[in-house]
Amino acid sequence: MSYYLLTLGCPKNVADSTRLERSLHEAGQSPAPARQAGILIVNTCAFIDQAKEESINAILKLALKKKSGQKLVVIGCLPQLYRKDLLSEVPEIDHVFGVESWEKVAALAERGEAVYAPEPSSRVSAYLKIADGCNARCSFCIIPKIKGRLHSLPPEAVVEEGKRLQAEGARELVLVAQDSTAYGSDLHVEDGLALLLERLATDLSDVAWLRIMYAYPGHLSKRLLRTMAELPQVCKYLDIPLQHSSPAVLQRMRRPHDLSQTRRMLERLREAMPDIALRTTFLVGFPGETEQDFQDLLAFARETKFDHIGAFMFSPQDATPAARMPDQVPERVKRRRYRELMRVARETSLERNRAWLGREMAVLVESEADVERNGKAMFVGRTYRDAPEVDGMAFCKGEAFAGEITRVRIVEALPYDLLAEAAAAD
Ligand code: SF4
Repeated sequence: MSYYLLTLGCPKNVADSTRLERSLHEAGQSPAPARQAGILIVNTCAFIDQAKEESINAILKLALKKKSGQKLVVIGCLPQLYRKDLLSEVPEIDHVFGVESWEKVAALAERGEAVYAPEPSSRVSAYLKIADGCNARCSFCIIPKIKGRLHSLPPEAVVEEGKRLQAEGARELVLVAQDSTAYGSDLHVEDGLALLLERLATDLSDVAWLRIMYAYPGHLSKRLLRTMAELPQVCKYLDIPLQHSSPAVLQRMRRPHDLSQTRRMLERLREAMPDIALRTTFLVGFPGETEQDFQDLLAFARETKFDHIGAFMFSPQDATPAARMPDQVPERVKRRRYRELMRVARETSLERNRAWLGREMAVLVESEADVERNGKAMFVGRTYRDAPEVDGMAFCKGEAFAGEITRVRIVEALPYDLLAEAAAAD
């Protein structure tokens, strides 16, 4: 039997889909286009309204095209919240499962006669999920309701999964969780993330880069900073979603709201790793956000000079305290604030990129010489400063193979991307 798997949402979902695909392969399933597959699977996201809408549209599209004999299975965050609604509103759905239900989905599928040997994937970068769930209770976020409290995967299981991804060709592992820096605290391990990084760096010799996403601002220990600074495999890169800079807004968000501590944390990171690339995410239009709060946020974004800034507009989620808060911000104001913030994000990103002009950097090659500029071969890669999918790329003159790490010289800085050429050999 064969399957078609559509993955929506965040890198945690992508990591779940990788696990699911492995279970399906072990159960004798092989991937196929939607029109030919025996089982159609949608791994959904329900983080914000836009994500829910995208998931529902994808389900409806497949439901419309579903042929007799095909099974439609919906998994992930959406059924975790709206199981009954999905089953009653979309009768074409055969089964729904919540998060991390890959074994159940694989068990659903019939075992084929022939043993299917999956081809090694050529992905040079893969998401490695280290934990799920979250103990924080941010007032706008539905995730703890969907995923429950923090549950860290045992280090042995993370290393084992890392080895599989390495065997499939990954040169970069991006560690993901709802709150990566809390890793291990539910296992009563202090500095769990630092210890895990040390173990991964020792046990995965072919993985060149380990990258941390989703660090909670209050959880950066001295030990973690030291480990990040000392281990060459760990990218000097950190994604720390701050959400806002106004103490009053942060307090209503139920997030760390001492701005002087945030500034100290950024200083400590830059002292420990002077070339560290920092990414953050801000949420605009939170209930009660005044124009002054927003102007302060713009000033904070200019002052702190994050290499990468992502932004969301607040959208009220059912069953979250923020949805019921007074002083909801009108949509047009949210949209204007979002545009203004993204303008500042573009300026700061360009400024940070310009600081690299003329310097040499290592690039992880993602695709080979399939891009041409002015008739000359180019390849596409990323430096340690850029995480896959969310940050920029390096477009480099010359030829290289996917998965290779090669040195280049930066010749042009664009707002998000870099142009480069091969560095002269020593
Ligand atoms: S830390 Fe992240 S996942 Fe946890 S409640 Fe806050 S926003 Fe949601």
